[in-house]
Amino acid sequence: MAEPETSAKIIDGKAYAERLRAQVGRDVAQLKADYKLQPGLAVVLVGEDPASQIYVRSKGEHSLAAGMHSVTHRLPADVAQAELLRLIGDLNTDPAIHGILVQLPLPKGLDERQVLAAINPDKDVDGLHVVNAGRLASGLPALTPCTPAGCMILLRETLGDLTGLRAVVVGRSVLVGRPIAQLLLQADCTVTIAHSRTRDLAAVCREADILVAAVGRPRMIRGDWIKPGAAVIDVGINRVPFDDPVKAAAGKTKVVGDVDFKEASRVAGWITPVPGGVGLMTVAVLLQNTVTAARRLAGID
Ligand code: NDP
Repeated sequence: MAEPETSAKIIDGKAYAERLRAQVGRDVAQLKADYKLQPGLAVVLVGEDPASQIYVRSKGEHSLAAGMHSVTHRLPADVAQAELLRLIGDLNTDPAIHGILVQLPLPKGLDERQVLAAINPDKDVDGLHVVNAGRLASGLPALTPCTPAGCMILLRETLGDLTGLRAVVVGRSVLVGRPIAQLLLQADCTVTIAHSRTRDLAAVCREADILVAAVGRPRMIRGDWIKPGAAVIDVGINRVPFDDPVKAAAGKTKVVGDVDFKEASRVAGWITPVPGGVGLMTVAVLLQNTVTAARRLAGID
């Protein structure tokens, strides 16, 4: 009998994201009914990066669908730093706006750190302000970066209690790797953060009950790096040419993760697909963070 292609259970990010967006929609309706409070999200897009345009459109559409107030500010790539900071200052004091997200990466010439630092931490729904990063690292309530928070929802829904599990996070970026590691630590996992200088990465990965890949290298993590039965969370979004030589020759590309899905799904217990896994959770958590920010700013428990 032919060996089945997949033994791992697929973690269906689409279904969990739909469920979370529906919950956010109910929360928004309740805030409107009980407090006449409509959570508002402002997204700032600088320049015309095609991927960023798609993400920003999706954020705007989903926030409107959840019943929120939604504004998108589009600025040219050559906007002056001072003008961008002025816009953020205005949004910081706008009572209709509870969440501010500046789509990254910013075009060259703009100081990303200074821009993120200018956002009111209480409206920092992307969770990238140092105040929120520091709060997260200190175990205090914080607005948490959306993709890491989405990964934690998937893990909790899949595995339940994570106490005592060995977790390995490959990648140490401020956006993904570090905050995921902090959240796993808060969930009482024993956490290792691996990176480009880690020795014998394959052996480190094989220790993981939970393996999170946030590297940005297509299919880098191979099947024999994975402990049998582990939960594999693939954050990577990488564009690669199609395997089909005709499509590849036509310049067509597809999206793959940092994990070799075919190999890994023969060994893992659970795995997120790419696309269809983590990526869909990011926007859903952004909406949830905006509701949280609106509640806190209004002093609602
Ligand atoms: P960064 O480039 O900021 O960080 C990559 C990390 O991977 C670094 O810490 C780097 O190590 C590490 N790394 C690079 N090469 C290796 C290697 N050969 N072995 C071990 N570690 C390595 O990327 P991001 O964290 O921003 O993003 C990671 C991936 O997640 C990307 O594919 C991105 O597109 C995707 N992503 C997906 C999102 C979603 O919504 N699903 C949201 C955000 C990102 P070092 O620090 O030593 O350089």
